Order: sequence, then structure tokens, then C-alpha cells
Amino acid sequence: MKPSLHAETHEVFNQVPSLDGANLYRLDLPLQEWIRRYDGAWAHERLSAYGALAGGALMQAGFLANENKPVFKSHDRYGNRIDLVEFHPAYHELMRTAVEHGLPSLPWNDPRAGAHVARAGLTYMHSQAEAASGCPLTMTFAAVPAIRLQPNVAEQWLPKILATEYDPRNLPMEQKTGVTIGMAMTEKQGGTDVRANTTRAYPIGLGGPGQGYELVGHKWFCSAPMCDAFLTLAYTDKGLSCFLLPRHRPDGTRNAFYIQRLKNKLGNWANASSEVEYRGAFAWMLGEEGRGVPTIIEMVAMTRFDCMVGSSSLMRQALTQAAHHCAHRQVGGKLLADQPLMQNVLADLALESEAALALCMRMGRALDHAHDAQEDKFARLVTAVGKYWICKRAPEMIYEASECMGGAGYVEETIMPRLYREAPVNSIWEGSGNVQCLDVLRALSKEPGVLDALFAELGDGHGDARLKAHIQRLKADFADTADIQYRARQLTEDMAVALQAKLLLEAGNATVSDAFIASRLEGRGRVYGTLPRGVDVEALLARSTPNLL
Ligand SMILES: Cc1cc2nc3c(=O)[nH]c(=O)nc-3n(C[C@H](O)[C@H](O)[C@H](O)COP(=O)(O)OP(=O)(O)OC[C@H]3O[C@@H](n4cnc5c(N)ncnc54)[C@H](O)[C@@H]3O)c2cc1C
Repeated sequence: MKPSLHAETHEVFNQVPSLDGANLYRLDLPLQEWIRRYDGAWAHERLSAYGALAGGALMQAGFLANENKPVFKSHDRYGNRIDLVEFHPAYHELMRTAVEHGLPSLPWNDPRAGAHVARAGLTYMHSQAEAASGCPLTMTFAAVPAIRLQPNVAEQWLPKILATEYDPRNLPMEQKTGVTIGMAMTEKQGGTDVRANTTRAYPIGLGGPGQGYELVGHKWFCSAPMCDAFLTLAYTDKGLSCFLLPRHRPDGTRNAFYIQRLKNKLGNWANASSEVEYRGAFAWMLGEEGRGVPTIIEMVAMTRFDCMVGSSSLMRQALTQAAHHCAHRQVGGKLLADQPLMQNVLADLALESEAALALCMRMGRALDHAHDAQEDKFARLVTAVGKYWICKRAPEMIYEASECMGGAGYVEETIMPRLYREAPVNSIWEGSGNVQCLDVLRALSKEPGVLDALFAELGDGHGDARLKAHIQRLKADFADTADIQYRARQLTEDMAVALQAKLLLEAGNATVSDAFIASRLEGRGRVYGTLPRGVDVEALLARSTPNLL
């Protein structure tokens, strides 16, 4: 035998074709349907163009931006403080592409029917390619309603926030073509309990809404610290108040905003999260003095919505990868996608993904109709319900999708480990799981009509007897207020699955809604892959497996 033949150890076969360059919009039937259903058809071309980017250039950039984590530079070589975080060019590419396509600005710049739904669709695809950059994009988008509360600040900042230009230079806002906005609330002694904040604000002049203050204190978590300004909380004599703290003072000098260090995080690697100190940092008061929490909640409501979208997006990408893998991988001479037990797992994952998307899109619709009191109440309640439930479902679902890919799903060359690392954070930040459930109770007790809005939405369960019975149980559970905090997770979960079932019924695909109701309202399974008999798993797989032709 020739030596060269000895070197030929094996032929590579039974591996899966690459998904590189797949259009994440074109291969996503449920997304296209929900966009159409909720007035977003006008954005079809735009979404399709972004889908091509997200499955192609942005997907590649996502790998690079995570392999090359941001680096904090506290001082220059002469010993001067510079407080800079340097990012890999791939991160800037992700940010630039998203900003230019209106991810932080679309519904504010063009508030037509379906605008929030279309933006959610864009975000859904962006986060599949790279989720960590979603943090500053979301915060910039979400800051708008809170900043609008303060006309003099809004007049100055909104044109730059809403400009579809990404300008990462560390310069005063006036010299930039576009800006990004962050948020810093959490302190060492309290994240959930922001009333325990110790940061103080001192008026420079008379003080009051829109006026300048100097802030002294710290924040324990401040993500995307290269943003141009941050919504933050500090105490005045009248109580906890909200401020916009820029990186540069109005005279163009550096603000006294000092980054202490970057967090070493489980995931979310492309995004920097820092600890900061304010040593007399200049900031404008936003909204009423002493009403900082209601002011910043205008922002938090939007970021919570994006946590729902973000987790749904991670689930969708995990499903895409798993379904694709099983459609091409044979075990025992038969494709995994044709083997009954794997079909059960994949179909179950597909249901979870589709139900999560349905709830996000319904929330997007509520935001598009926020002028309608009923929709506004719906959004108030369902933001907390959806953030709790979808973010809770994501890590387990993604782990299960990885397992469908066997060892390949555990290896960093695939996106699966990154999706898995990324998943828990959406449940933690912007109010962790329990906090969302407690917020559900707060909404019910403080804001009349929100429960009515929920039950009006659920109606008689769209004529489905199983959903109708579930709704009756839910009503009885709410009528009993004993130990309600203790039971808040169960109540929230029951609301979430009821809404998802109703939305899937309404969407009109009986295969999907029947399977969802049979498994989520009646099923006995505790892990994925426990769908009961009678589910048309092949139809569910056909709907969720990428068709590369
Ligand atoms: C990667 C990352 C980035 C972040 N970026 C930012 C940022 O940019 N800006 C910012 O301000 N914050 C940021 N955070 C902080 C985040 O918002 C907080 O960690 C979160 O709000 C929880 O606050 P905490 O860590 O102080 O936990 P705690 O408030 O101590 O809560 C601990 C646990 O107790 C639960 N809990 C709280 N109250 C109750 C109750 N009454 N009953 C039952 N359970 C309860 C919570 O749900 C939570 O699970 C970031 C966090 C992470 C992980």
C-alpha cells in the first residue's frame, strides 16, 4: 500500500449540511404568519432582508463578538483615567446593522399599525444571530417613553436616539450622529428593592424636573457602559427620583462616571456589564421628583417585553438547529427526524417555540394599540405574565434542543452552548421570576380592570371545551385570595398557557393548537418529548424544519 493511502483514515459522512446563510425570516413560517396576522405585512420585505443578514453576516459576527469579549481600559498609558470598553469590530457590525435597520427606533419613528409587531420580528431574528448586543439595542428602544416624559431633555436627546445611525465614538452627544442609552438601577444592597438605593442627587441650581443635579453613589450592574447616557435612580430630599446621566457633561468635559470593573458573566459575553461609581456625576432629572420608580418603569415595561422576545428568539434558533440536525442525521440507518421518540421531542420543542412567539406577537399588538384602554390594561398584565413564563421555559427548552444534536450540540463550534449560556439572563434582569409574579399580583390589586382585560381576551376559550374548563379553574383560583403570594407562580403559569392556547386556537392551525392544549392543559409530561398520542408530529416537524431549497 502507498503511504498516502494509509493517511486516508476515513470518509466524512452522515454529517449535517451547513445552515450558514439561511434566511431566518423565510424559513420561519410561524413568524411570517404572526407578522401578517397583526398588521405587519407591510414590513415583509424589510423582515426578509434582515432575515438574510441575521442568518448570514450577523450570525458570523455573533461568533466573533463572543469569542472576543469586550476589554475594559481604565487608564491610558500616561495614567489618565479613560474608562473605555473596547469591543471587537464584529460587535460594532452587529450594532450598526441593527441601528440602521431601526431595531431601537422603528415604532417611534413610524408608529403605524403593526410597527411594534414588525420591530419585534426584527429583534427576534437579530437575537438569534447574537443576543448580547440586544441589551443596548433594547435599552435604547425602551428609554424613549421615559425620556419623553421630560420635554427639555427629550428635545435634545430624542433626535439622536431615533437617528438610524450608529456612532460608537466616545464624544459628547452634540458631536455624534446617533446615540445609545443604558440603564443603571441595581446597587450592591438591592436590585429588586431599588428603594434601598443609597445614591444621592444634589441639585446644581433650583432643582426639579428637567434640571441639573450631581449624583454621588454606585451601581452594581450597569450593562453596555459605553452607552452615551443612562437612566438611573438616586434619592433627593423628596424621595427616589429618575435621572438621565450622560457620559459627558453639557460643557463637553468627561462626566464623573467611573467604571470599576467588568462582570465575569456566565453568558452574554459580547455585551459588557460593569460596576460603576458616580462621583458628582452630572444628570438631568426625568419626570417628577420623588417619582423615580414610576418614571423608570416606562422603560422597564419595554425591556421586559424584549426579554420575552429575546427568550423566544433563543428558543427558535435552538429549534431550528435541532430540527435541521435531525432531518439530516441518521442513527441505525434511519433519519432521527423519522424516529418516533425523537419526533415527540422535536414536535414538543416546536410547540413551545410557537406558543412563545404567539404571546410575544400578541404583546406587540397590544403595544401597537396602546391608545385603547383595554389593550393598555392587557399589556400591563401580560408583560409580567409573558416575561415570567417565556424566560422560565427557555433554558430547559434550549438544553433539550442541544441534546437532540448529541455531542455536536455541546461543542462551541455550534451556536448551541451560546444559546444555553444566554438563556437564564432574560429571567434575571429587569425583574427576576418571582418579581414578575409579584408584579402580576400588584397589577391585579392596584390597576382596576386588568383581570377583566385578561378574561375578555380569553373569552370562552375560542369554543374549546378544554380551554374553557381551564379558564373556569383560573377564575376560581383568583376568587380565592388566601396565600395568593405563595401561589403566584402557579397562577401566572396558568394565565400564560391559557393565553398561549387561546392565541394558537385563534391562529387557526388545528394541528398546533390541539397538540398544545392536549399537552399543556391536559398532558402529564414534565420534560419535553412527552406529547400524548394522537399528535400530528410529522406536520409539526414539517412546519419547523428549515427548508433550504
Ligand atoms: C448580566 C446582567 C446584566 C445586568 N445589567 C443590569 C443593568 O444594566 N442595569 C441594572 O440596573 N441592573 C442590571 N442587572 C441587575 C439585575 O437587574 C438584578 O440582578 C436583578 O434585578 C435582581 O436583583 P438582585 O441581583 O439584587 O437580586 P435580589 O433583589 O436580591 O433578588 C434575589 C432573588 O429574590 C427574588 N425576590 C425578590 N423579592 C422577592 C419577594 N418579595 N418574594 C420572593 N422572592 C423575591 C428575586 O426574584 C430573585 O430571584 C444585570 C444583571 C445581570 C445578571
